[in-house]
Amino acid sequence: MRPVRYLLPLLSCLLLHGQQGPFDILIAGARVIDGSGSPWYYADIGIKGDTIAAVGLLPGAAAAVRIDGRGLVASPGFIDIHSHGRRGIFTVPTAENYLREGVTTIIEGPDGSSPLPLAPFLDRVAHTPISINFATFAGQGTIRQNVVGLANRRATPEEIQKMKDLAAQAMRDGAFGLSTGLFYVPGNFTPTEEVIEIAKVVGRMGGIHISHMREEASHVLDSVRETIRIGEEGGLPTQITHHKIIGKSNWGASVESLKLVEAARARGVDVTIDQYPYTASSTGIAALFPQWALEGGQKSVVERLSAPEQRARIKTVIVQNIKFDRGAGDPKNIAIASCSFDGTLAGKNLAEITRARGVEPTIENAADTAIELQRKGGCSAVYHAIGEEDVVRILRSPYTMIASDGEIPVFGQAAPHPRSYGTFARVLGVYVREQHVLTLAHLLQFATQSGGNLLIPHRAMPRAAES
Ligand SMILES: [Zn+2]
Repeated sequence: MRPVRYLLPLLSCLLLHGQQGPFDILIAGARVIDGSGSPWYYADIGIKGDTIAAVGLLPGAAAAVRIDGRGLVASPGFIDIHSHGRRGIFTVPTAENYLREGVTTIIEGPDGSSPLPLAPFLDRVAHTPISINFATFAGQGTIRQNVVGLANRRATPEEIQKMKDLAAQAMRDGAFGLSTGLFYVPGNFTPTEEVIEIAKVVGRMGGIHISHMREEASHVLDSVRETIRIGEEGGLPTQITHHKIIGKSNWGASVESLKLVEAARARGVDVTIDQYPYTASSTGIAALFPQWALEGGQKSVVERLSAPEQRARIKTVIVQNIKFDRGAGDPKNIAIASCSFDGTLAGKNLAEITRARGVEPTIENAADTAIELQRKGGCSAVYHAIGEEDVVRILRSPYTMIASDGEIPVFGQAAPHPRSYGTFARVLGVYVREQHVLTLAHLLQFATQSGGNLLIPHRAMPRAAES
C-alpha cells in the first residue's frame, strides 16, 4: 500500500465553510486533518490570495491553479513555540528550513533571551518580507540584565519594580508572554520568588510563561517543581520547554516529571510541555562550566581561567559534567556545531579536538580542551546525552507539543543540530509513520493548537501577520 504523504505547509488557518470560487488555488481531494483532534476527512480547499476561502466538497469549482491532493494529507501549519528564528530571519527571510517541514508560525525569545525593547525589533520584522508568522516572548534574563546586569545577587525592591515595568512594556509591545532561561546567565542568578513577581505582571496581561529550566540532569525534578510553582503562584499558564533528561544516570526521570505535571494539572495548574524529538541537545560549550564561573560574562570567565586555583575548580566541574551530565561519559558525545574563532572545528567532537592537541582524549584532557575553546570565545556544541526512552515517553504525554529550539541557518554553513531542519518531519516520519508513537491526528492537534496552552492573543501576532 502506498504510504500517505503529507502536504503540510500550505494552510495556516482553516475555515470550515466558505465560498464557491473561483479560487486562485484549489487543493482537491486531500485528507484534511484540521487540528481539532478529530480524524481526517476528505475535502477540497479553496484559496483566494492569502486566505483559505472554503473547505468542503467543491466539485467543479473554478481555480487558476489546481493541486491534486489525492493520497496527501493537508493540515494547518505548525506552530513552533521555541524558536531562535531571529538568528537568521533577516538573512534568510524565506525561512525555508521551517516552511519545508510545515512550520508557518515561529515564536522567538525563548530561554530568557529576547530583544528589548521589543517594539523596534518587531517593527523591523514587520517591514521585512518574511514567509512565516513571527511572534516573540519577552526574556526574563534580558530584562534582568538591563536592570541588574550579569551579577550574581538578589535584586532590590526598586530593581524588581523596574523589571516589572519592562515586562509590562514588552507585553504592550506585543510579547506573547515571559520566557525564562534559569540555566543561563543571568537567569541562573534569579531566585524563584523574583521570577514569580515578574510572571504575575505578565499573567495579568494575558501572557504565558515558558521555561528552559534551571537544571535538566540530576535536579530535573526540582526544576519541574519550580516551573510549576511559577505558574501556580504567578497565576499564568506555564510550560516546560524542550523537556528532556540529560545524563545517563538520570535517564528514566521523565516517569516522575510527567507525574508532577499530571498532579499539578489535577489541582488546576495549566502546565504543559514542549519537546524536540532528538537524543542530543545543543547549546554553548559554557554549559559544561559551573554556574558561578560564568558570572559577569566572557571577560570575567577569561580572568577566572587565568587564575590557577579557580581554573582547577572549574575543571573539576567540567570533568563531572562530561562524565555524568551533557557528556554522557565520553568526550566523543560532544560535537562542535560552530566556533566563531575557527570554522574548521565545526563537526569535530571533543575527543578529536583533544587528540589534535597531541594528547589522549581522556575526560580530563577533554575538559582542558573545553576550557581552551571557551577561553578563545566559546563555541556552540551538540551534546548526545538524552535517552530515547525519555524522548518517547515525553512525546506520548497528552500535554506535549513539538518545538524545534532551532534557528534559521544559512544552508551549508557550520554543523548545526538537525532540529532546525528536521524537527517536525522527524516526528511525522519516525514517531508517527514508522513507530506509531503518536497518531497523525494527535500530532496535528498538538502541533497546530499547542496543547490548548496557546490561544494566540491577537496583540501577540498582528505585527508579524501584517508582513
Ligand atoms: Zn533552551
